[in-house]
Amino acid sequence: MLSRRYFIGMAGATLAATALFVKESNALGLFDKKDKNSKFPFSLSDAEWKKKLTPEEYYVLRDHGTERAGTSKLNTEKRNGTYVCAGCDHPLYSSEHKYESGTGWPSFYQPIKAEGAVGTSKDYKLIIPRTEVHCANCGGHLGHVFDDGPQPTGLRYCMNGVAMDFIPA
Ligand SMILES: [Zn+2]
Repeated sequence: MLSRRYFIGMAGATLAATALFVKESNALGLFDKKDKNSKFPFSLSDAEWKKKLTPEEYYVLRDHGTERAGTSKLNTEKRNGTYVCAGCDHPLYSSEHKYESGTGWPSFYQPIKAEGAVGTSKDYKLIIPRTEVHCANCGGHLGHVFDDGPQPTGLRYCMNGVAMDFIPA
């Protein structure tokens, strides 16, 4: 039988491991704003991003902001074409997978490619964890993905229009 002491010991070990992780992550600069996206193929310094992007693009892509619902002209974009990252021109979504979600944000039920277009991570900004979506090439924040989308995927990629540019086919 496992003793009470064993459990206390395990809890202690977990806490120590967590503390170590936080410390090591900081040592690697993972929580440092200017270095946080250096694991992506395309990376710029914070100063370079500020120069390259408009203030609205910077707010969403680099600061994980959210545009006001219904403000993007991409909401009503119906032409055939490709939605690319406003930060690095990486292809993200195809018009083929766009649909009207009624949320006021451009929505897709899948990325343009299953792998390598966008990446996801857990976002704990609200009490309920959400799945954050970012450009797989530069790490720029695009929006979130929810599981209340249409078939065939059942997913809703809820994107900030300001984080993308539309290239007509
Ligand atoms: Zn990008």
